[in-house]
Amino acid sequence: MRLPETCFAILSALALAAPASAQSPQPADPRSPPKLIVAIAVDQLSADLFAEYRRHFRRGLARLQEGAVFASGYQSHAATETCPGHATLLTGVHPARSGIIANHWFDPGIARADKRIYCSEDPRDPASTSERPVVSPGLLKAKTLGDRLKVIDPRSRNVAVSAKDRAAVMMSGHAADAAYWWKSGSFASFRGRKPSPAAEAASREAAARIATGEPGFNPPQWCAARDLAVPVSGFSVGTGRFPLAAGDEGGFRASPRIDAATADLAVRLVDELDLGRGAAPDVLSVSFSATDTIGHRYGHQGVEMCIQLAELDKQIGRIFDHLDRRGVDYAVVLSADHGGFDAPERLGRQALPAAQRADRALAPGQLAKAITASTGIAAPSGDLIYSDGLFGDYYVSRALSPEQKARVLVELTAMLKAHPQVGAVYTATELAAEPMPSGSPQDWTLLQRARASFDAERSGDLVSLLKRAVVPISSPSLGGSIATHGSAWDYDRRVPILFWRRGMAGFEQPAPVETIDIAPSLAALLHLTVPEGEFDGRCLDLDGGAADTCGQ
Ligand code: ZN
Repeated sequence: MRLPETCFAILSALALAAPASAQSPQPADPRSPPKLIVAIAVDQLSADLFAEYRRHFRRGLARLQEGAVFASGYQSHAATETCPGHATLLTGVHPARSGIIANHWFDPGIARADKRIYCSEDPRDPASTSERPVVSPGLLKAKTLGDRLKVIDPRSRNVAVSAKDRAAVMMSGHAADAAYWWKSGSFASFRGRKPSPAAEAASREAAARIATGEPGFNPPQWCAARDLAVPVSGFSVGTGRFPLAAGDEGGFRASPRIDAATADLAVRLVDELDLGRGAAPDVLSVSFSATDTIGHRYGHQGVEMCIQLAELDKQIGRIFDHLDRRGVDYAVVLSADHGGFDAPERLGRQALPAAQRADRALAPGQLAKAITASTGIAAPSGDLIYSDGLFGDYYVSRALSPEQKARVLVELTAMLKAHPQVGAVYTATELAAEPMPSGSPQDWTLLQRARASFDAERSGDLVSLLKRAVVPISSPSLGGSIATHGSAWDYDRRVPILFWRRGMAGFEQPAPVETIDIAPSLAALLHLTVPEGEFDGRCLDLDGGAADTCGQ
């Protein structure tokens, strides 16, 4: 029987009113599975930034510090980029197994002209290119927590929101009920999926803010010491306030406001899908992208990052407040897809004169030119060498004879090894022969770190790692990037991992753990049985007292 609309109105009014009695929600029974997992990724939130700012947090990031705090979490692999990092969070496997080895890799043998592959595209779709991808989870070779829950009970909802498609896709995986990301001024989803009313409302609200413009942010008093201009390359950073000119969508996207829009959509989706109050547990993944954009544009130690982290704290708090008002029993994990490193110009002033920018000669085009000059070998079609920057995976053209390819590889290896900024070069053969690393990730060799990023199908013929403190941006630009991540060094690998659930006995564990430990830990909390060997990580006991959240 169909209920009259007034009935629905009354029922929804009751549903909205019910949480009023939940102003001080009761602690959950720690043995019962939570009804909702809130998985938060803060893009580029290094363990170093967390350590620097944690005492200033007052809202969401303060509450999480009452839970289980792993101050030295590791994205333990070498290629510390957004897509591989997000893929570890809820799959529990290294990039070597998820297949997400980088944001972009190359398939020199693919039929399309664009040999570059974007991690969350469908390269078989003729409409897809690495620059204009048809967004898809198809390249992810692993299951996410949400995927696993939906197999057990299809009533579980698997929802993800971010400003970046790759973040939302890698956290929700293959069976997303709702996945949204920011695209040209509004929230978009997979092709053919119409944005829900919640997504449309969040987009309208963001559009209104963009249309009118807004004044800059006032930094909290504790940001004052960082409010210092540093010259970079004909411009300076360090004192920005993010004023928003009317109509400046790019400015909105590169400010704390995009995180507010992301939180706004997350909150709306909680209501729209009634997350955490269904018959089966739900997963809400929220990846905040502004810390990354601001880290790239302004570096880590200016007033810009200080403003950003203060604003992020508020947005995370807003999501928790909303769930509390609705009386949801939820467990939270917060981590990051990778860390980051400041601009060498500021590092040089702040006691790290060794920091430097990478040499443009490491770019694939430059290397190819030199190799053609010394060997006479050129690619009959396409490029001789493919790579996505000044380090990482290098691929040799598939249009060469085996002898030519071997010669080019020898030459390329020698050139990279001879370069003063290169720390290590490994061939695919060497990486394939290396066992998957285990033990404390802080003690792994560079070869072991690179092994955790290696997928025989997708990785390059060679992997080159830069020396510590070499920043792979040779030409910094205003409004572009001045600083970055991606290296095999701990400033890019170390991230905080925080778990919280109401009533849990919190603790601080400084020993290294890994982001691949998150999924097994949450699976145990949810009493989810996962076949032996499907995770690379291990379950972390999230109760600081006598209870053991891993022991069932
Ligand atoms: Zn990232």
